[in-house]
Amino acid sequence: MPQEKDSPEDLLRKVVALERSRGYRDDAVIGGLEAFLRRNLPAALAIVAGYSAASHFERQRILARLLSEPIPEPSAEPPVAPTGDPLRAPVRTAKGVGTKRAESLERLGIRTIEDLLTYLPRRLEDRSRAVEIGRLVSGQEVGVRGEILAVNEIRPSPRMTVVKAAVGDGTGILYAAWFNQPWLAKSLRKGEVIDLFGKVEKSYGALQMSSPVWEPAGEGHEIGRLVPVYPATEGLSDKFLRSLIARNLDLYASAFQDVVPEPVRRAHALLSKAEAIRTIHVPKDPEAFERARRSLAFEELFLLQLGLAALPAVAAGKAHAGTGQVATSFLAALPFTLTPGQRTALGEIVADLRAEKRMMRLLQGDVGSGKTIVALASALYAIEAGYQAAFMVPTELLAEQHAVGFERLLAGLPVRVALLTSARSGKDDLKEKVRTGEVDLVVGTHALIEEDVAFANLGFVVIDEQHRFGVVQRSRIEEKGKDVDLLVMSATPIPRTIALTLYGEFEVSLMTDLPHGAVATRTVWVAETRRGEVYREVRRLLETGGKGYVVLPLVEESEKVDLKAAVEVAEELTASLGSFGVGLVHGKLPAKERSRAMEAFREGSVRLLVATTVIEVGIDVLDADFMVIEHADRFGLSQLHQLRGRIGRKGQAAICYAIGDARSEEAQRRLAAFSTHHDGFALAEEDLSIRGPGDLLGTQQHGFLDQFRAVDLLRDLPLMIEAREDARALLRDGLAAPLMPEVDRRFGEVLKWLRV
Ligand code: ADP
Ligand code: MG
Repeated sequence: MPQEKDSPEDLLRKVVALERSRGYRDDAVIGGLEAFLRRNLPAALAIVAGYSAASHFERQRILARLLSEPIPEPSAEPPVAPTGDPLRAPVRTAKGVGTKRAESLERLGIRTIEDLLTYLPRRLEDRSRAVEIGRLVSGQEVGVRGEILAVNEIRPSPRMTVVKAAVGDGTGILYAAWFNQPWLAKSLRKGEVIDLFGKVEKSYGALQMSSPVWEPAGEGHEIGRLVPVYPATEGLSDKFLRSLIARNLDLYASAFQDVVPEPVRRAHALLSKAEAIRTIHVPKDPEAFERARRSLAFEELFLLQLGLAALPAVAAGKAHAGTGQVATSFLAALPFTLTPGQRTALGEIVADLRAEKRMMRLLQGDVGSGKTIVALASALYAIEAGYQAAFMVPTELLAEQHAVGFERLLAGLPVRVALLTSARSGKDDLKEKVRTGEVDLVVGTHALIEEDVAFANLGFVVIDEQHRFGVVQRSRIEEKGKDVDLLVMSATPIPRTIALTLYGEFEVSLMTDLPHGAVATRTVWVAETRRGEVYREVRRLLETGGKGYVVLPLVEESEKVDLKAAVEVAEELTASLGSFGVGLVHGKLPAKERSRAMEAFREGSVRLLVATTVIEVGIDVLDADFMVIEHADRFGLSQLHQLRGRIGRKGQAAICYAIGDARSEEAQRRLAAFSTHHDGFALAEEDLSIRGPGDLLGTQQHGFLDQFRAVDLLRDLPLMIEAREDARALLRDGLAAPLMPEVDRRFGEVLKWLRV
């Protein structure tokens, strides 16, 4: 219980600290944080509004805000811009914004005038071209000017209205139709001349446009020019946002101050902030638009990089490396030699281990590039120097595989390996050995970060498949030792622009080569109706000695149903293909049975393994050479790629069947991309363009992207690198101090988060 003398603020700080350490689960106090504040510190409620419903990342932000912002004195005064800066005034003070609109805008994250004017268009639509009606061609998107000859309103059904207008310009007549906008019948007046813009269609010989944009002739807001297109949401149309921004632009644009120093701007031919803001909303041509976008993107990248570069230097660490004798004999005993990529990466990691600073390194390499061996060899350096190493992986199956594989690979070497997962019995005994240092290398799942796990002398941590873990988990495992060196590994190829941001403090080792050369896996996308053919082919493959997987999706919400489906499919296949040996693994299987099934598959008494996505990451059965992915439309692209990475691992020819009907355009694009690209980086970029960066990174990691309004993550890598260099130079020259408040204001939360 908190002590009596705690002021509400002290109490708050304690609660926040607890909430943080518990991973932002809103369970630090009974009833949740909001209820707690309502009882103890109602003035702070506004700051945390929505906490209980917020995502993990939003919660981090809210808490950070709670600690950094002064708790408002209860008062009836409306908020005013604290700095006197007109841009910081609430958005409801903008021209054309009422209370209701202000609420909708706030839902978009637009709270101030600045937010409004930095709400940027995604693209430009060219609405400058106009054509005479007599010369319209079906399928064109064009503008037309004409006189309204007739207007009428029809109700084809009780719930539908159609407003139709006939428009003529002397060369022909065009029919325009708008649906469920009955008010248009009043605003479109016979005899008036209007401009229209839309797609021309021809039906029964008549020219039509359905739901065209229109405005009084010559007004020039929506038609007759290049129009910036804004991301719209419910209740706020693109058109409304455009007119609102246009109305406030002249009033406020000049209030924008330059952040990027003049010499830097000049060197990169960037516009001043005010000019860039003006231009991006009202560009005279696409080149001007792009230049404005680039200028604003540079500013964002520059500020972020400045913040990253100014983070307190990674704490001086310890050297964690022995001479490398153990690693050398380990490598010599391997049945293969390292690829050049592996050699370079190992060299970089070992140099970090030797250095007296904390290592933070990301090892990136596509599925099958051989990251495990590199990590293991590095661990041997630390172990030789008397430290313990931990290897954290996302699934029990993978932990089990690694533990078994490591034991085998390390046979004869003075290294004691242990497996620590929540499913393991005899854990207490094991934990004791970890605590007393009787174990050198601990492989495990999240179980490694449980509170009662302590290490005698943890010096090196490897996090495999890092994207599956949150930042909190990362920091927890680090805290199990002192000054540990950290290696995180990922096959999910994060586009470099994001990697440099998200892992801004990490050095990156990149392995671009695969041990067996180019992937020889062919991928075929098959419609559901042709499932039968796939399984006939599976039989043929098994008859000719093949070995492979049938993978079924396992989505959490429908876990039971999916599990049942897996069991049923296994039964079906046992009935038809049982003579080849059919096995089943899924996450709910007891550990013993699971490893028995994996072992049977590995040695070959089972040649068809039915599995849920537990096999997605890391599983390494070298001679598996085919895979059937059922309901492939339910998987994400990177997941599909990971799954496919389970076959053809010796470089042998392999085939992957993705069975699924694309019910949406997105699924269609995903499956098409999956069957044409085999390179993880190409796929990641495709994924990024299909879904946008938020989804690619998972909910835990994308919050920081909100701060990027102008940056185009696919194209701005060179810009990011330039911004980083300039930011570092500014800092070196001691000129960065005046900019730090702005860095903090715009990217403070992000930086805090990157530093958790
Ligand atoms: P990933 O990078 O996806 O984690 P793994 O580390 O699981 O890849 O390695 C894939 C497979 O390639 C493993 O069976 C591993 O033993 C093997 N392997 C790793 N390095 C080499 C190499 N240099 N030559 C041949 N095979 C290798
Ligand atoms: Mg791996």
